Amino acid sequence: MLNIVLFGPPGSGKGTQADLIVQKKQLTHISTGDVFRKNISQQTNLGKLAENYIQKGQLVPDDLTINLLANELDSYSDSNGYIFDGFPRTLPQAQAFSKLLEKKEMNLSFIISLEVSENELVKRLLNRGLDSGRADDKNQEVIRNRIQVYHNQTAMLKNFYLNKLKDSFFSIDGERTVNEISEDIFNIFLRKK
Ligand code: AMP
Repeated sequence: MLNIVLFGPPGSGKGTQADLIVQKKQLTHISTGDVFRKNISQQTNLGKLAENYIQKGQLVPDDLTINLLANELDSYSDSNGYIFDGFPRTLPQAQAFSKLLEKKEMNLSFIISLEVSENELVKRLLNRGLDSGRADDKNQEVIRNRIQVYHNQTAMLKNFYLNKLKDSFFSIDGERTVNEISEDIFNIFLRKK
């Protein structure tokens, strides 16, 4: 079983690379952002709660997010492995995640951290906002807030996982072509086989 975390700021290309991995490997892609957006479009209770945070570029509270992740894992329990995209994003999420994986006797195989500069992120997100239909990609202030939240609450998880997984943590220059990045990622798959 392969379980991978795609880590990186908003706009770093996690979703794009996850889609490419899914085309080649039989893994289940779990994007907490996608699941929140589905709940918002279906106007579920969770969607209504999450929407307030997402539209401001803030993180959805940990308890809601951790529950949602646990439910997703349960609903794809027969999977060969997972790509976690956009989760975990805080230390309590990472700690709860470790416990959950332990309970399910699962391990993280490796973590890929996509590194992209702030100017490039803003440019990409505004560009994505032109046709993604995502309100949080349209407003420059919300975008800057999302990047700030990443620096304040999420980036520190790199150290958490560097300590925990050591030689299974890979930083990749995410400011190259989609194909170049994807090639690096598949090389990691080969090394970790
Ligand atoms: P994303 O599609 O990953 O960029 O996520 C979009 C938005 O969903 C984020 O800006 C957060 O408001 C929310 N979100 C997604 N994943 C998480 C998470 N792991 N923890 C808290 N909020 C999240």
